[in-house]
Amino acid sequence: MTTPGTPILVTGGAGYIGSHTVRLLARQGRQIVVLDNLVFGHDQAIVDPGVELVVGDVGDQALVRSLFAKHRFGAVIHFAAYAYVGESVTNPLKYFQNNTAEPIKLFQVMQESGCKVFVFSSTCATYGVPDALPITESNTQHPINPYGRSKLMVEWILADCGVAWGLRSACLRYFNASGSASDGKTGEDHRPETHLIPRVMMAVTGEIATLEVFGTDYATPDGTCIRDYIHVEDLADAHARALDHLAAGGESFCCNLGTGVGVSVKEIIAAVEEVTGKKVPVKYGARRAGDPDSLVADPTLAKRILGWEAAHKDVRDMIRPAWAWISGPHAGRFPANSRPA
Ligand code: UDP
Repeated sequence: MTTPGTPILVTGGAGYIGSHTVRLLARQGRQIVVLDNLVFGHDQAIVDPGVELVVGDVGDQALVRSLFAKHRFGAVIHFAAYAYVGESVTNPLKYFQNNTAEPIKLFQVMQESGCKVFVFSSTCATYGVPDALPITESNTQHPINPYGRSKLMVEWILADCGVAWGLRSACLRYFNASGSASDGKTGEDHRPETHLIPRVMMAVTGEIATLEVFGTDYATPDGTCIRDYIHVEDLADAHARALDHLAAGGESFCCNLGTGVGVSVKEIIAAVEEVTGKKVPVKYGARRAGDPDSLVADPTLAKRILGWEAAHKDVRDMIRPAWAWISGPHAGRFPANSRPA
């Protein structure tokens, strides 16, 4: 573990995966400063009183420099990014600016400050249409949208900075993040919400009239897309381990974070019906552009390097807390930010 006294900068720590990771790191007694511009983040997702939230942009070098001067960070975990694949197709520059160019400004400050440990939110979208299943890290990385490319470029930049000035990095390629905190205090709140599991639940609560299934003619057993759903608290655990690996002098690496279990859209709907005891109103529609048939991780490398394995492998273990969050007092939504974005 990074020594409790070594502060860690967490960018995007008020977002979905970021905030659940911050909660785990805080529980482990680590000193955390969150930098989040609250464009998509929620200040109410920072629930630990010892965690400092700074509202600002990763690309604001004056601000980031002042934070490094004040806290002397030993490591950075970088979550801050845009993640709407469809929008990345219509507005690629927004994604390359925010997801690729802004981190470069952060790396410049890290280099100046001598901070050489970086944990990066990468994605299975860097693989594009997989050339083999399950996906190992040696699969070809050939992203099919600007979002995936904006993340892959950062992986390349990190590798080059490793050679040039000794930056050590972990690129964590997430599969489908899902679920929410086991204590019910935090969960998934994207606006707009495009992800399957929360949308199926929104169809159950009546927030949307029906769940549209995007395509029933995929080359899968039931014709709907197969994904690897990974519990957000398992993702958090992998970040903590990646930090410790690098802090202990471990080498840079890239690895998949998934369960290794593939679940179809129809199977998700059935699992939500089982957990909620309610029927999901469904309409079968056309394919959504850019969806590969199946994306399933081979998580062996993460186990080898980090000793990490998903604790939750049954998708109902993600659906249960997600349903508690959506049907509970929060109704799946954080209160409005109390600080301006
Ligand atoms: N999906 C769907 N209806 C929805 C949202 C998603 O059928 O309202 C499908 C989508 O086409 C994909 C799977 O559910 O096959 C997971 O989509 P999601 O957007 O949650 O994650 P992605 O795999 O795109 O990162």
